[in-house]
Amino acid sequence: MTSTTTTVSAAPEGTPGGVETIAVTRIGSLRAPDAGQRGSIGVVTFPADEVGPQDVRITVAYAAICGSDPHLAEGFFGTDVPIGLGHEISGVVAELGPQVRRTDLQVGDRVSGNFVRFCGACQPCQDGRQQFCEHLGDYNRPGMARSVVWHESQIYKLPEEVSLLKGCLLEPTSVAVRIADKTRVRAGDRVAICGGGPIGQLTLQLMARYGATSLTLIEPIAERRELARQFGALHVIDPNDDSLEERAREITAGAGYDVVIDASGSRHAVAGLLDIAAPGGTVVYGAMYPEDYELPLNLSDYLYRKELTLTGVFVSPYTFPRAVRLLAELDLEPFLQSVLDLEDASEAFETHVSGEHPKVVIRCNDLSEPGTERACRR
Ligand SMILES: [Zn+2]
Ligand SMILES: [Zn+2]
Repeated sequence: MTSTTTTVSAAPEGTPGGVETIAVTRIGSLRAPDAGQRGSIGVVTFPADEVGPQDVRITVAYAAICGSDPHLAEGFFGTDVPIGLGHEISGVVAELGPQVRRTDLQVGDRVSGNFVRFCGACQPCQDGRQQFCEHLGDYNRPGMARSVVWHESQIYKLPEEVSLLKGCLLEPTSVAVRIADKTRVRAGDRVAICGGGPIGQLTLQLMARYGATSLTLIEPIAERRELARQFGALHVIDPNDDSLEERAREITAGAGYDVVIDASGSRHAVAGLLDIAAPGGTVVYGAMYPEDYELPLNLSDYLYRKELTLTGVFVSPYTFPRAVRLLAELDLEPFLQSVLDLEDASEAFETHVSGEHPKVVIRCNDLSEPGTERACRR
């Protein structure tokens, strides 16, 4: 990645009003040591999407960088560049389509949203499994941009006490809610979480609220273990120092954890998780994984003798209304300390990849709300 922002125009000749958008401009790992092999991020002008009858144009205030964004640079969802980024956003309603049915939405409203639209009409939607909607991609438009056009059903209004800066964390919060749903945790269950990135830390806050016991974060970075303690972890394990199994046995008095959650997405990290789960326990793989990674799974040990339930999460169906209410109550400040402007896209991604900040946020437009946000530029 170069430190200067590349500006490429992807808008066809003569397109009026293109939208500046942060995009992958060259496929490759953002962590590649050789600059020639490294993926690159820049600001690209895309043609503006039309506001359809039931669409809403949002002037984007903030868009947060997600742990999954570098996977897009690696070509996980395709290799045709430029690939627009951004699914964790907040902003202000700029325009409503002529047939928007929502009576609660007005121009000027502060909102966030779900980057995928569930159509409501296909078989999976009709069957209560909207995460498998056959039209998920239709409205999946990049939000790390000056503006974005989404369907009215994707929009969630922010409560008055939630600032626009906080509001961009609605989508990651919805993922934590979805993970919590999949654990089917009960008050008093022993819970371990692997991975102290934003999803792991938000899930940890939720698990503490559910009444989890022996609440443990497994994480190699010391600052992230410290943050987890602040959020309610009773124990932390550094997988590089400690024998994971031994520490887990100590903490749970030999029983293992009733719920084990992976929020790391790392092939090294997930290897030992089945061994620290208690008989009858649930293991939730709550991240994206390398496409070629196969987990060795001894069916006799883990499914026959231990009766483990293994599950994962794809997108977050039926979680956004609850996530909106949680935004006001969760401790989100540590994730909002590093804010860079859209022009500094490439630097922002370097900062993200460095892992030095719990989260990096892009300011897409300056819609400052006096009194509710402190200036917290890096
Ligand atoms: Zn995300
Ligand atoms: Zn559908």
